[in-house]
Amino acid sequence: MTPLLDHIKNQIRANGPMRIDEYMATCLLHPTYGYYTTRDPLGVQGDFITAPEISQMFGELIGLCLAQTWISQGSPQHFTLAELGPGRGTLMADILRATRRVPGFYEAAEIALVEASPALRDIQRETLADHEVRWFDTADALPDQPLYLVANEFFDALPIRQFVRSDTGWRERQIGLADGALSYGLGPVLPQPALSDRLKDTNQGDLIEDCAQIAPVLQAISSRVATHGGAALVIDYGDWRTLGDTFQALRAHQKADPLTDPGQCDLTAHVDFEQLANAAAPAKHTRVTPQGVFLERLGITQRAQVLAKTLSGRALEEHVAAHRRLTHPAEMGNLFKVMALYPPTKLPPPGLDP
Ligand code: SAH
Repeated sequence: MTPLLDHIKNQIRANGPMRIDEYMATCLLHPTYGYYTTRDPLGVQGDFITAPEISQMFGELIGLCLAQTWISQGSPQHFTLAELGPGRGTLMADILRATRRVPGFYEAAEIALVEASPALRDIQRETLADHEVRWFDTADALPDQPLYLVANEFFDALPIRQFVRSDTGWRERQIGLADGALSYGLGPVLPQPALSDRLKDTNQGDLIEDCAQIAPVLQAISSRVATHGGAALVIDYGDWRTLGDTFQALRAHQKADPLTDPGQCDLTAHVDFEQLANAAAPAKHTRVTPQGVFLERLGITQRAQVLAKTLSGRALEEHVAAHRRLTHPAEMGNLFKVMALYPPTKLPPPGLDP
């Protein structure tokens, strides 16, 4: 038995069934045995691959989108260029390369990474060795100044709770022990005032998810964007008002059982963009736009054609496949969505609608 499984079972024996958010937080970020704390999970050798790891075009277009927003807002001097959950630092490196020639951008930018994993901080330090970078534990520690921020596949890693609607109210899905193994169960009906608006669109037996950490993270961002200027691009898989069980584990690019091998698999849930929108004030939020549409609007096809001219053989095939993977509705183009926060008095970032 792994030390983390042992630890979780002891917790359940001592305190009773564990909420899904507690389980998720323990598996992902336990200081000694957590999934993110101890490893680099990204890439072909790892458990999952993200858009910036698929093609440099993703980060380049995000960089130009943020830089254009910065110019449209009057090129404020001294701003934070931030990323939440930067993984290997690839996205930030591509953003910085693409914006190198934007006059004044580099001089004004202070790079800030919000990262919980010491192992990934080390890799980010290497990837971004040519730049001055500051790390923060949480978004509310970011400087009080204009903020241009991106979060790709960050919110899906935040712990969720799950509730099943019964005839008398919401019962929380929990993890307990059955015959010595981790197993799902349902807690008692308890008042859940925060879920009352979900009574309208659910029926008995339906399962809904709630992510309590979304609101404080968005508050930290939206207050800075609304007060000082800036914009925040949130990119993730999910949809408006998700319904049903989206709690999933990935290991070596295959779906796995979230209760098997805790700490050895990536655990995520789909992002409910309505929860983001509800926490967006005092900033405004854009409509939710599919990633494929967003990247097309930013000119990914033109960029892909320019890059294709420099490639041949296997490299060209991989480049064409990467373009398709990022944008095609049957691949990441539709599953992944983009939403931005922006100041109430300004226009939304390019590629997105108010
Ligand atoms: N954005 C990157 C990596 C996504 S993986 C990319 O697109 O490739 C998720 C990232 O979020 C990892 O860097 C992980 O360590 C970080 N992370 C997860 N939960 C976090 C938390 N609560 N606080 C800060 N960082 C977190």
